[in-house]
Amino acid sequence: MQVWTVANQKGGVGKTTTSVALGSLAAGGGSRVLLLDLDPHGSMSCYFRQNPDTVTRSCFNLFRDRQALDPAVVSRQVIETAYDNLHLLPASTALATLERKAIGPDGAGLVVAGALAHIADMYDLVIIDTPPLLGVLMINALAACQRLVIPVQTEFLALKGLERMVHTLEMMSRSRRGGIDYTIVPTLFDRRTQASVGSLRSIRNTYGERVWPGRIPIDTKFRDASKAGVPPHILAPQSRGVRAYQSLRKWLSQAPRDLSPACGV
Ligand code: ADP
Ligand code: MG
Repeated sequence: MQVWTVANQKGGVGKTTTSVALGSLAAGGGSRVLLLDLDPHGSMSCYFRQNPDTVTRSCFNLFRDRQALDPAVVSRQVIETAYDNLHLLPASTALATLERKAIGPDGAGLVVAGALAHIADMYDLVIIDTPPLLGVLMINALAACQRLVIPVQTEFLALKGLERMVHTLEMMSRSRRGGIDYTIVPTLFDRRTQASVGSLRSIRNTYGERVWPGRIPIDTKFRDASKAGVPPHILAPQSRGVRAYQSLRKWLSQAPRDLSPACGV
């Protein structure tokens, strides 16, 4: 089982869209996929018509029952979506209560990693969508993944937010055995605007090989898909946005490139 986390401390950069697109494309290709929504706002859960205010199965239960987590407890939180091979572990708004707690030496940062270890045989790929702030939930998501995808909106100030995220990774790598293999994904690219073109250039200049060579264009089909609650590739298989996510998925599925960990131990 591979675990990919999608994270950025900034909101509105395409984290949820990227999680849904990558996960549903992989499921469409035959992989057994679990989408895990760790954002208390629950956008990914809402996408699949689960209400984070009222869900009874959710990630929150993993934290609540963490002393007695076993495979049955974990798989009981999972919901089947209407799509083959695509399961969802929804968020609950109750997750927000965890963010306020300070992380201590009691293993609170390893709840998700521990839960996923119990169901490792059931899935080929787990994709974790995260909230836009560094707290217990983000730390859990970073501790559980082998691969981190950082969507960055191509706009002015993109680099500022990215610096913060990379700094977070450096802090995290101190509490992991290895560095995190991360990939920066330029999103919401509009080739007609100077802001998009200029910021893409500076992201590439600064982060070099850490940046996926493609980019995700602005494509209104993503909003339509989210409104309809349908994976983007089913709503608009030939759209530019879907094709871009297809090539991103292929690229991420390849073996990790021979890069020295940018924030390794
Ligand atoms: P985040 O999870 O980082 O907050 P979202 O994935 O929810 O970001 O995206 C924010 C908004 O932008 C949503 O309404 C989403 O439908 C829209 N969006 C995301 N990516 C694109 C894109 N490539 N083109 C057009 N709209 C997009
Ligand atoms: Mg989101």
